[in-house]
Amino acid sequence: MSNIYKEPAPYHKGEANPFESMLIRFDQAAQIYNLDKGLYNYLKHPVKQVIVSIPVQMDNGNLEVFEGYRVIHDNILGPSKGGIRYAPDVDIEEVKALASWMTWKCAIANLPFGGAKGGIKCDPKKLSVGELEKLTRRYTANMLEIFGPDIDIPAPDMNTDEQVMAWIMDTYSMHKRKTVTGVVTGKPVIIGGSRGRREATGRGVMIATLAACGKINIEPAGMEVAVQGFGNVGSVSAKLLFEKGAKIVAISDVTGGFYNKDGIDIPAAIEFVKAHKTLEGSDFGTPITNEELLEIDCKVLIPAAKEDQINADNASRIKATLIVEGANGPTKAEADEILRSREIMVIPDILANSGGVIVSYFEWVQDRLGYFWEEEDVNGRLNRMMTEAFDAVYFTALKYNSTLRLAAYIYAIDKVSQVLKLRGIYG
Ligand code: NAD
Repeated sequence: MSNIYKEPAPYHKGEANPFESMLIRFDQAAQIYNLDKGLYNYLKHPVKQVIVSIPVQMDNGNLEVFEGYRVIHDNILGPSKGGIRYAPDVDIEEVKALASWMTWKCAIANLPFGGAKGGIKCDPKKLSVGELEKLTRRYTANMLEIFGPDIDIPAPDMNTDEQVMAWIMDTYSMHKRKTVTGVVTGKPVIIGGSRGRREATGRGVMIATLAACGKINIEPAGMEVAVQGFGNVGSVSAKLLFEKGAKIVAISDVTGGFYNKDGIDIPAAIEFVKAHKTLEGSDFGTPITNEELLEIDCKVLIPAAKEDQINADNASRIKATLIVEGANGPTKAEADEILRSREIMVIPDILANSGGVIVSYFEWVQDRLGYFWEEEDVNGRLNRMMTEAFDAVYFTALKYNSTLRLAAYIYAIDKVSQVLKLRGIYG
């Protein structure tokens, strides 16, 4: 028994940020799974952490030096995969935690990838397009030994987009003296991106929602859904559920939200946001705040905006039967027990929003084949893989009599530790 992990990790002093919330769940799952202490330590520590200085000649002639990070949490299941974020407050600790998150997400989705994450400490809003390009290219050049289609494959994250991925692909390719599209995913379709990638996360949310409805006998046609956040994930989730006959009774974005018990015309809301950038100034129902949206009378709640929305205070007032986490980390760990005791089913982020990384995997496969699939092929395969991932987590929850969240972590820990044992420790 002594080599079984039992103690909470010493750095868990509380829940100061979403990554600590994630680590608390990892610890809980490790205990339920009786994870070997040595394996626990192995999986807690990233295999590689790289910090680089990135000098950039700014438009005003000044030389500025930025700090860039890439953390490979593990490459047990295959090359590591994970996005790159540009943010003023990103640091190596945050990137470490995000990298381990990717390990669990890829394992649950049955992808042949380990987990990684990268970042550059910068304020992209203050950079010109030219400065952003120089920053991206020099970061990529500094990471030439780290990145590679068989080693480590970046993707977009906060404040990085298709254009940034195109610059990374081009810089890497210039150094290799050949075009290497598979070094990065989330590229524009015209240069080796995948059809269906833009809608993939919202589509995955829709698939997971319908899979859960099947388990708890909710009829999708006419079910009331509230969606917080109307960006890529929220608007696509709302649109696809609307197309399945669900009644989207509430939507919101950073400017606030609307409630309409008769259902909101989602295509019209999408058109409005396309034209005006936000929902502000529209009239899709009674105005509500983002806090009120969470407590609206509905069957399904989809937090698809940002982290830390559901906490110990509001968890007891949530009326939904099912919560589907489109966003990363929308529920604090302190709320888990309250939701469980109220028998509210929560599809956790590392399962619910994995449609994006699944289609990134498809992009990588297509790049390596040099053969590109029709959108219906992408969507069909996404449907199959999301459904399989959902079932795997669902049956793990039944086996361990746990929440879906802990089951997702247990399933991931089981898979990664089994492969680690088979591969063995070299040295
Ligand atoms: P986005 O920028 O396209 O949209 C974010 C939306 O949330 C916008 O409507 C914005 O107005 C709204 N918002 C921002 N702050 C808010 C606040 N305080 N209250 C309410 N709404 C607020 O971003 P996205 O790509 O849709 O990502 C949303 C979430 O999903 C993030 O947590 C992200 O990490 C996660 N996620 C995204 C993907 C993806 O493929 N895009 C994949 C996995 C997870």
